[in-house]
Amino acid sequence: MAKGGEDWKKRLSPEQYKILREQGTEAPFSGKYWNEHSKGIYRCAACGSELFASDAKFDSGTGWPSFTEPANLENIELKEDTSHGMVRTEVRCKKCGSHLGHVFDDGPEEKGGKRYCINSVCLNLTKESQN
Ligand SMILES: [Zn+2]
Repeated sequence: MAKGGEDWKKRLSPEQYKILREQGTEAPFSGKYWNEHSKGIYRCAACGSELFASDAKFDSGTGWPSFTEPANLENIELKEDTSHGMVRTEVRCKKCGSHLGHVFDDGPEEKGGKRYCINSVCLNLTKESQN
């Protein structure tokens, strides 16, 4: 895919563009997946890369979809983010470079202690078939 901004603007909704390409954050409890409990695979909304499995999703109470680990570490990229006067670790899709959210160290201890806090608009859930 071309790196130019216009292609992205055509492909993504204005809200998606703001978050995926300009590192925005959706309002908590506003996204479509924070309270989603279906089984399946969450893919990058921009490029379709497999990012998170529903098995790693947990209720963090933050209002954003939260995961203890990515489905495949090779599909994501972690990057130090010092914006807004904080030092955080940004989570990006490795394939297309889109911003997804941040990872924090306050996840469930029994599952490794990580909390991948991801914006719903960055994800597309492919549900497992019911049969
Ligand atoms: Zn992607």
